[in-house]
Parts: sequence; C-alpha cells; structure tokens
Amino acid sequence: MGYVVTREASIRCPHGGVVRFLPGGRARLEIQGSDVVSSEDQSSIEGCTGSSGDPCSRIEWIVPGHPVLTIDDRPVLTSDTPGTCVTFVGLPTGPPVFATFQTIVEA
Ligand SMILES: [Zn+2]
Repeated sequence: MGYVVTREASIRCPHGGVVRFLPGGRARLEIQGSDVVSSEDQSSIEGCTGSSGDPCSRIEWIVPGHPVLTIDDRPVLTSDTPGTCVTFVGLPTGPPVFATFQTIVEA
C-alpha cells in the first residue's frame, strides 16, 4: 500500500533535483484538485547537482505486473512505487525521494 501520487507531490532525485510531471491530456482523476500521476506520465528533473555535465533527467518507474489502481489502463503512481532516476545519457543514479504527498487516498 502506498499513497496515490498527484502533481502536488514533492519528489526529488537523490541529489535534490525537483521532479516535475509534464501535463498529460488523457483521462483524469483528481485528489484535492490535483491530477493523479501515472507511471506513464512524462517527468523531468530540474536542479540536480549530482554530476556536472550529466544530471538526472527523468525517472524510470518499476510497475508491478498487476497494479492496484489504473486510469485508462495506465498504472497510478503511489508513494511506494519503486523507480530509478536516470541521467541524460541513461545512467541510473538511485531511487527518487518522495518528500511530501497527499495522505488521504491509498492504493
Ligand atoms: Zn540527481
């Protein structure tokens, strides 16, 4: 069980970079006015100070074979979804850190 992740969540790479989810245009579910994020939503990472010249750029999520909750067949991210931050050239740097997130809806 984990908490459903929305765009309001604060997620960081292991070096303090801020993860942002790019707007998606498909089926939506909101919690407290913020869109729920799926593992297929595109993400970007800003402000990573990990390695000069090749900072973290995105997160690759490891989705279970039978996700608990899906929207439009896309697995919803939860605060315990495992993932790896990846640099621009594709080097894994470590798991993302879920700093803050809504704690009302679990999945
Ligand atoms: Zn980083």
